Amino acid sequence: MASVTEPKSSAALTDGIILEKPGPQGTADTLAPETNGNVVGKPRHDDDPQNDEDLIFDDHNSTARKMVILGTVVFPLIGMVAAIVLAWQFGMMSWLNLGMLIGGWYLTGLGITIGYHRMLTHRSFDAVTPVRWFWTSMGALAVEGSPTDWCMVHRKHHQFSDHHGDPHSPHLHDGGLWNSLKGFWHSHTGWMFNSNWSKRERQKYVPDLMNDPFLISIDKHYVWWVVATLLIPAFIGGIAALFAESVTVMSVAQAAGLGFIWGGLARVCLSHHMTWSINSICHIFGSRDFKSSDDSRNNIVFGVLSHGEGWHNNHHAFPTSARHGLKWWQFDLSWIIIRSLEICGLAWDVKLPTAKQMEYRSRK
Ligand SMILES: [Zn+2]
Ligand SMILES: [Zn+2]
Repeated sequence: MASVTEPKSSAALTDGIILEKPGPQGTADTLAPETNGNVVGKPRHDDDPQNDEDLIFDDHNSTARKMVILGTVVFPLIGMVAAIVLAWQFGMMSWLNLGMLIGGWYLTGLGITIGYHRMLTHRSFDAVTPVRWFWTSMGALAVEGSPTDWCMVHRKHHQFSDHHGDPHSPHLHDGGLWNSLKGFWHSHTGWMFNSNWSKRERQKYVPDLMNDPFLISIDKHYVWWVVATLLIPAFIGGIAALFAESVTVMSVAQAAGLGFIWGGLARVCLSHHMTWSINSICHIFGSRDFKSSDDSRNNIVFGVLSHGEGWHNNHHAFPTSARHGLKWWQFDLSWIIIRSLEICGLAWDVKLPTAKQMEYRSRK
């Protein structure tokens, strides 16, 4: 196993990928003493696009684009409410529906944590191509954006964590209860409506990913990944209904509909809020075991529920570590899988902090 380097610069977040120097506000590290925990003002980007040609999406600020984001947030939520009502009021939930909800959540959630986050964003390990493609595909099915966009946002989050330039910090608003609530909303969901990305930023933050044909192909055809992730469970539900004792057109249609709601919309809703809680809750509630230049926290609930991502203070202290649950009792399912892949010879260059590095950053 390789050891991680101290995260003193943006390059350390990505194990050697040199990002351009940040703007006049400096790196999160250099800002820490003046602004730690009390950053005020509106969040802004250091690379705000100068003109429309510079934008990744031509219609970036249009109402249509905001409606797409609104739909991505709201429809899964409606699906979750519908699933609960159908189960509660009409008993319309099968073991298959529950399996698709939980199984789909685990698979696509791990796609985000293992594939998008630890493998692509931080390069905390490398793996054989089928493994890389599998976890990247699972991540794409989580409906959290294409891999290059996701990694771009996340690398920027680490570079400016909880300081101006961080896309989704809960601490970029003034004090008081109302502003705290606004900060929470911004970090959990609201930031997506305000995000404004330029092609220059993509080139700056994810130059290494822009040469990968598989990632670019997902980028180009992302809408079909969204369609697939909703229709696959509907298809599974419909096929399973064909093997029931009495088969009618209605019974197949109903099973497909329930598959769509439980395994599609409700599952996407669950995955979304698990990931978004890392950006919001895990920068507010929990313990700070290691020194880091932000307000990241270790939160046991999301450590367990979010496949290890809730050990977020550990992660900000050692961004390139493949293991986030650094203590034996800090359950980290993503790490267990990465370690298993390494033991099987399917993954390598697995990075971990050394005991000395952990001691140096420990707050105790
Ligand atoms: Zn964070
Ligand atoms: Zn990260």
